[in-house]
Amino acid sequence: PQPMLRKPEWIRMKVPDSARFQEIKQVLRDNNLHTVCEEASCPNIGECFSGGTATFMILGDICTRRCPFCDVAHGKPLPPDPNEPENLARTIAQMKLRYVVVTSVDRDDLPDGGAQHFVDCIRAIRAQSPAIKIEILVPDFRGRLDISLKILREAPPDVMNHNLETVPRLYKQARPGSDYQHSLDLLKQFGELYPTVPTKSGLMLGLGETDEEILEVMRDLRAHGVSMLTLGQYLQPSVHHLPVLRYVTPERFEWFKQQADAMGFDNSASGPMVRSSYHADQQAHAVIA
Ligand code: SF4
Ligand code: SF4
Repeated sequence: PQPMLRKPEWIRMKVPDSARFQEIKQVLRDNNLHTVCEEASCPNIGECFSGGTATFMILGDICTRRCPFCDVAHGKPLPPDPNEPENLARTIAQMKLRYVVVTSVDRDDLPDGGAQHFVDCIRAIRAQSPAIKIEILVPDFRGRLDISLKILREAPPDVMNHNLETVPRLYKQARPGSDYQHSLDLLKQFGELYPTVPTKSGLMLGLGETDEEILEVMRDLRAHGVSMLTLGQYLQPSVHHLPVLRYVTPERFEWFKQQADAMGFDNSASGPMVRSSYHADQQAHAVIA
């Protein structure tokens, strides 16, 4: 096995301890809701929860895929919970959020990949929080893309996010069951169907990719109409997950951001602790405000 790389000093985990953090956690438990923030052990959890931001996970916490960088459990998921849209909407209203990210595990077991449940959640949230902006971070709907995109027509989100996660050369190893070109096509087709809704994608760095490969993916995203980008450092959730092969320096992340600006992304966030939903509200503000 690979010797573990030492974490550089710019990777910091703040211990969440604020009253606001505890309060949000309690509301989530009371309503039987999951957040990515907790499931993925996100390093920003203290900052985000204290600031009143969270990424909600719908359709359960068991995934039909098994990506070896991901901390979500794999197995046979439960059927969608018909009460979830209401529970979610009520919780979000109680939390008085102005911007939410809603995401799900991959549901290869459902004929529409879970698209109808996304729409039901969007509608329920807007009914209780009319001014809210909703970003959805979707799985790839592989094998059911046409039907999923049609279903989203009922209630399109304010931002459509789908992460490529890594460069195409590493898909076989890091994203079994996924397909790089398919994911690009999803973003492009959504953009063509809903030209007023910005599309967004993100990558984790440190899985073995080169800088040039990352630039290549960024160019592909632009060529498929994507206008928002996140780049962050991959962190190994446990010794059973893919190892971190490099820690990208903050300076290099800044350099990627300059490249993104030059390529014409309307908004990009690039830094060691950036996650797909990190400061999503501020990021989106510049684009959809
Ligand atoms: Fe949650 Fe995203 Fe913030 Fe992480 S960056 S704590 S996943 S909202
Ligand atoms: Fe994790 Fe998404 Fe892969 Fe499922 S499809 S294992 S949730 S990264």
